Amino acid sequence: MPAKGRLREPSVSLLADAGLGPEEPGERALAFPCRNAPVDVLLVRAADVPEYVQDGVVDCGITGADLVRERGARVTELLRLGFGGCTLQAAVPEESPITMLEELAGAHVATAYPRLARELLDERGIAVELVDVTGSVEVAPRLGLADAIVDLVSSGSTLRTNGLRSLGALFTSEAVLIARDEGDHATRLAAILRSVVDARRNRYLMLNAPESALEEICALVPGSRAPSVLPLAEPGMVAVHALVPAADVWRLLPKLEAAGASSILLVPVERMLS
Ligand code: AMP
Repeated sequence: MPAKGRLREPSVSLLADAGLGPEEPGERALAFPCRNAPVDVLLVRAADVPEYVQDGVVDCGITGADLVRERGARVTELLRLGFGGCTLQAAVPEESPITMLEELAGAHVATAYPRLARELLDERGIAVELVDVTGSVEVAPRLGLADAIVDLVSSGSTLRTNGLRSLGALFTSEAVLIARDEGDHATRLAAILRSVVDARRNRYLMLNAPESALEEICALVPGSRAPSVLPLAEPGMVAVHALVPAADVWRLLPKLEAAGASSILLVPVERMLS
């Protein structure tokens, strides 16, 4: 997995949440054995992970989906990991007359992702002159090196700070678990990590409600599975327990309160095996 950069810490936390953190806490070494399981972690450049996996140096790797495509590695994506989310976007200076991706035809486009940019623009039938740069892609137009850029964006603030306007996303990326093939080791690790990744996307909801509000509350709780309904000592009152998507919670809570729910508790879920 990545030795530094934005994917390092979330990769270590994912392993730790799966019970496979470094044996020595705070480990900064470039390789460490994991706690509780016969797994050895090698820390390398995020961009090198796809080749290490493809060449069989390691059984599995964690890196950005963008880097897997950019390196052209022949590997299998086993799991999307829910962090390192970003999009590869084309952008032009604010004052550029270009307003649509298609208008990039014939333009000079700076990027640190030449292979991916070429593939994605070719798919759309847009032929450009690529200018390879390795860093600070967003200053290339100001330096007169290019008319546009293709670069990774997460919040969009770097584009704005550099006076650039997005023409749209070409590719959506996040950190992924990859393997050369779906071998035994890889499949087992993927199952362990999947239980954590799925759990992080959900919360366990508990609430009390009058029986008369049960129908409305059950209709509000998303998901296909029925919630658990338990009788309370107080006559006419029940407890409702359900798994809810973490992203929906802010919308859901006021509606549940309005429907008559009280003593609402939301707790994180550690593992989920469906
Ligand atoms: P780093 O080692 O910090 O350069 O991380 C590079 C990887 O982080 C990229 O290949 C992406 O998968 C991911 N990433 C997530 N958000 C961004 C972003 N805004 N800019 C660049 N990389 C990002």
